[in-house]
Amino acid sequence: MQAFEHFLSPLNLGYVSLRNRSLMGSMHTGLEETEGGFERLAAFYAERAKGEAALIVTGGIAPNPAGRVFKDAAKMDTEEEAEAHKILPKAVHDHGGLIAMQILHTGRYGYHRDAVGVSEIQAPINFVKPKKLSHEAILQTIEDYARTAKLAQYAGYDGVEIMGSEGYLINQFTAQRTNNRDDEWGGTYEKRMRFPVEVVKAVRRAVGEKFIIIYRLSLLDLVEGGSSWEEVVLLGKAIEKAGATIINTGIGWHEARIPTIYMVVPRGTFAEVTAKFKKEVSIPVVTSNRINTPEIAEEIIAKGQADLVSMARPFLADSFFVAKAREGKSHFINTCIACNQACLDNTFSGKTTSCLVNPRAGAETLLNYVKTENPKKYAVVGAGPAGLSCASVLAERGHKVTLYDASDGIGGQLRIAREIPSKREFDETVRYFGNMLKEYGVFLKLGKKVDAKELSSEGYDAVILATGITPRRLNIPGSENANVLSYIDVLRERKKVGKNVAVIGGGGIGFDIALYLTDPGFDSWKNPKEFAKEWGFDLNVGTRAGLTEKAKDYTTPPRKVTMFKRSNGKFGSSLGKTTGWIHKLTLQERGVEQISSVTYEKIDDKGLHYAVKGETRVLPVDTIVVCAGQEPQRDLEKGLSDAGITIHVIGGAKEAGELDAKRAIYEGAHLGATL
Ligand code: FAD
Ligand code: NAP
Ligand code: SF4
Repeated sequence: MQAFEHFLSPLNLGYVSLRNRSLMGSMHTGLEETEGGFERLAAFYAERAKGEAALIVTGGIAPNPAGRVFKDAAKMDTEEEAEAHKILPKAVHDHGGLIAMQILHTGRYGYHRDAVGVSEIQAPINFVKPKKLSHEAILQTIEDYARTAKLAQYAGYDGVEIMGSEGYLINQFTAQRTNNRDDEWGGTYEKRMRFPVEVVKAVRRAVGEKFIIIYRLSLLDLVEGGSSWEEVVLLGKAIEKAGATIINTGIGWHEARIPTIYMVVPRGTFAEVTAKFKKEVSIPVVTSNRINTPEIAEEIIAKGQADLVSMARPFLADSFFVAKAREGKSHFINTCIACNQACLDNTFSGKTTSCLVNPRAGAETLLNYVKTENPKKYAVVGAGPAGLSCASVLAERGHKVTLYDASDGIGGQLRIAREIPSKREFDETVRYFGNMLKEYGVFLKLGKKVDAKELSSEGYDAVILATGITPRRLNIPGSENANVLSYIDVLRERKKVGKNVAVIGGGGIGFDIALYLTDPGFDSWKNPKEFAKEWGFDLNVGTRAGLTEKAKDYTTPPRKVTMFKRSNGKFGSSLGKTTGWIHKLTLQERGVEQISSVTYEKIDDKGLHYAVKGETRVLPVDTIVVCAGQEPQRDLEKGLSDAGITIHVIGGAKEAGELDAKRAIYEGAHLGATL
């Protein structure tokens, strides 16, 4: 592993010296609005500052009621509200870090009836039509930014970040798409960019010289009617002149139909856009999006593509990311796999933010792995995510742990999931847990299905069953035929699949199998240039907002796939809230047909026979892949109970419905922390 030297050299910002070059990007945690949430938030930030994140940016705080994300979301326009924040900067300063508060005005993205807009143009992702801001209201909003910055200074923050990207209010001023005004705030680009420039000037006037102002500038809007490169540069230069200390960069509006942070996006894709912009200004520039390892962060800095690297989700996954890298222990970093499952999906479901690979994120005061005073001897059966997390937490706490798996390696179903091209990130989770097992001395027994007799003879204080699931079979005439495969046959056993395929099941695995079987083979998940061609954008930003035509080859699948499910309604309702659209759009473009409300009848030489509303149809297919959910695998339970052994059951073995790696790791960690 390389050292993290570039992050360690102090950066000369004139009047403030950052300890290194990592910035923890803004994340709304939901704790801002939870009762007792500020204490939890203080612990959350403190742990990241202790882990050596140099400059932390908080989640977005609105400068006035209209700018809030939702009706009761956090704002700061009173001294009382600023007072409540004081414990946050203090917690960070106690560990030698810096913290800036993000000021976020959502504009037409506000999910409440008081939402305002530059013009009365409704966002495609919102149910609210915004009320148009009057000239006076615009001037007041500028003052509101300044007042909030002043209050943030009063609360003890080291700076503020002015959120000017991702399609929020400031972006709504700068883009033709959302600004059709003909007064002094619209029309020419000079007029459209007046608002952000006035905001930065007003904030600088309010806070004086020695306060960090980060401006988050949208480099690549990725929406029709977004900014051109020339406009972005013009604005960046004006923002510098208006008094910003640092320019952070944003990619893509929330309503853009191009993925910018999900695991399908290759690591570090957008650093070259930042590099192009960096030449235009003289203040430090930050890059962001899909930077999840020290190696990539270091490479970006070494190449001079950016002055600082912003990582947000990687600090959820591991609060000690920077410290571990500095110590040359990046193999111990719990890597963010860019799944969004416990962070953004939670946020958009009204839950507090956490992390699939690290259930302690956001729960630092609630879930702790405290050393045991009464070490015991435990067996954990199953080295899938549930067993891995339980075994490593138990061992970290000082228990003696043996972990069994029938397979020749650890990871359970994650070893199958990683075969889906964009899901290679799961390898990092398996690597992390593997190193944790070694670090804490877990005794690993692989390659043999353990039975109750063997477990009973070892004198364990308890056995943890993390034995996962068995795939559900399709129970109709012909389902024993050789051309009927399970998803495991396809992904792990690599059995041959024909040119015309039926996928049974429309859950997460059905979608993954359909994506796998229709993958055109350009490896776009690991190659930024191929990814840009597939999704239709230009990393060199030669077009307005960076948009280009999608390359046709990417929508030409190697085979015809049809998906089936028995229930009514559209496919994909169980997919991730913030990522499901990516899978749905991809399959649609690859011509995958989806048929719901079916009754399966039989399989024979003619193909799959099924009925819809009583009408029988036949689809001539050469292969049928069954992704019909799973049943818990608990065949050890009876033998162990009969032998009087204490059993705990977690993950898929406990409940196969609505199982995912998030729940498996969460249950493993919670059991491991309490035994
Ligand atoms: P498993 O992962 O099934 O592990 C159980 C282990 O127990 C196995 O390794 C098995 O060999 C072992 N075992 C069983 N019996 C014995 C025995 N008697 N002796 C020894 N060993 C035994 N989840 C997500 O959250 N996000 C995703 O994007 C995602 N994508 C997926 C894609 C695919 C293609 C698949 C197949 C799954 C995906 N999942 C995803 C689901 C996720 O992998 C599972 O929910 C998770 O692995 C369940 O964890 P577990 O530990 O309970 O069980
Ligand atoms: P699932 O999401 O429960 O879907 C199972 C599918 O099988 C459903 O479409 C169901 O639809 C169908 N089905 C159920 N019983 C059936 C039967 N007896 N005969 C025929 N069809 C049947 O399960 P999964 O797709 O196997 O995924 C397993 C878990 O892994 C899920 O909980 C999922 O969240 C997780 N996972 C997550 C992701 C992700 O990206 N987050 C990706 C992959 C997997 P009908 O009942 O309508 O037929
Ligand atoms: Fe990263 Fe997934 Fe954790 Fe979010 S939930 S921080 S995307 S690993």
